[in-house]
Amino acid sequence: MRSLFCIALLVSCSAGAQTPAEVPASVLENLATAHRILAAEGVLDYLGHVSVRHPSNPNRYLMPRQVAPALVTAADIVEFDLDSHAIDARGRALFSERYIHGEIYKARRDVNAVVHSHSPTVVPFSISQVPLRAVHQAGAFLGAGAPVFDTRGLDSRSASLLVRNPALGKALAATLGEKPVALMRGHGDVVVGADLVVAVARAIGTEVNARMQLNAIQLGTPVTYFTPEEAAAMENPAAYARGWELWESRVRPK
Ligand SMILES: [Zn+2]
Repeated sequence: MRSLFCIALLVSCSAGAQTPAEVPASVLENLATAHRILAAEGVLDYLGHVSVRHPSNPNRYLMPRQVAPALVTAADIVEFDLDSHAIDARGRALFSERYIHGEIYKARRDVNAVVHSHSPTVVPFSISQVPLRAVHQAGAFLGAGAPVFDTRGLDSRSASLLVRNPALGKALAATLGEKPVALMRGHGDVVVGADLVVAVARAIGTEVNARMQLNAIQLGTPVTYFTPEEAAAMENPAAYARGWELWESRVRPK
């Protein structure tokens, strides 16, 4: 069946023919690499996903089929419209929480990459009364604040904390507002950026900052947080590309 399809369209039957059309291979490869980076850095485990806005159609986005992040390849990437309907699923199982991505892309025209993770050290800040705040350069962008999204009272049909429909995705996007990060109660977080490198660096920085803040709290004395001015002065987006270079080298196939 597949070979007949390929012959009819006079296209190659290589793995590349199974990926979204009109998307440069480098975009798909980088998105796959982002998953492997975030798995290697302890942000993603067998759950969670990363997306990018389609490079030539702002009303579409790209994210993988349902697969563990460390195993994502370019051939796993599926194209979606902003209502999170798959354009080219071809029978592949999709993530139930894809609405996180579609609804944020609708709400935030400045955002071109979204990370949803269950970042383990971030979750305690979503279920306690201690807000996640900037304590180190890696998390300086948290100086803008990190609101907590709570599903309680939002879906009368389900007690699940997962964002599995457009209404919940829209509510999450509203909680995120103009911020780079929103925590999700008892669940994880969502981190956004103007491009994939920024989103990945911020997702790692959120986990690193949470670890440091938690360690500082455990020392038992008052914690000195960044002031808003210090946070703004310490964020260094130019360093994110250097971070990507390092993280990518750790997951590059030998
Ligand atoms: Zn989730």
